[in-house]
Amino acid sequence: MFDYLAGCFRGATNLVKGLNVTFRTMLEPPVTILYPYQKKKVAERYRGIMGLTAKAKEDMKKQEAGVESGELKCISCFKCMEACPVECIDIQRERGGKGKFILKGFSINFARCTFCGLCVDACPVDDKAIVHSRHFEEVFFERKEMVFDMDKLSLVGTGIRPNDPQGERFELSTFGREPE
Ligand code: SF4
Ligand code: SF4
Repeated sequence: MFDYLAGCFRGATNLVKGLNVTFRTMLEPPVTILYPYQKKKVAERYRGIMGLTAKAKEDMKKQEAGVESGELKCISCFKCMEACPVECIDIQRERGGKGKFILKGFSINFARCTFCGLCVDACPVDDKAIVHSRHFEEVFFERKEMVFDMDKLSLVGTGIRPNDPQGERFELSTFGREPE
């Protein structure tokens, strides 16, 4: 009889404890948001899809004749390509004057990229020629669309969605770089 009553008491106590958690949670503000209409701020060092950054206008004036790397900071050193553990970076370059290289092509296969950040870490250029963005909403229907060429990577490097240039701009990550 005593065991039976003790069991009933334990059951009632546990029920009250459980309901206590339920009622407390009911009074807390919701943690869910109505994505995509509401969005949380992405962490500053978030490693989203990568882009190529461009030189500032004053640096462009110093650019030497014969080095046609366009506006991009990339010096075609291959360090990011060599650092990539899944070999998803492909760079084409040609020899230019004074031992420098001309960047002819740069692509990243985001179907293979693990967003590890090793390419950004390896880049020797000041403030990085290749950077992660805080962009995570790119949608693809075919795997071949996940290979970004130099034009698309340049857009990402300026915060523009390559598949929706008129769409909402995004920020670049500070991963591997000094915060702006
Ligand atoms: S983030 Fe990692 S996997 Fe992706 S391109 Fe860079 S090094 Fe390669
Ligand atoms: S490491 Fe930097 S500078 Fe060198 S090829 Fe890659 S992006 Fe260009």
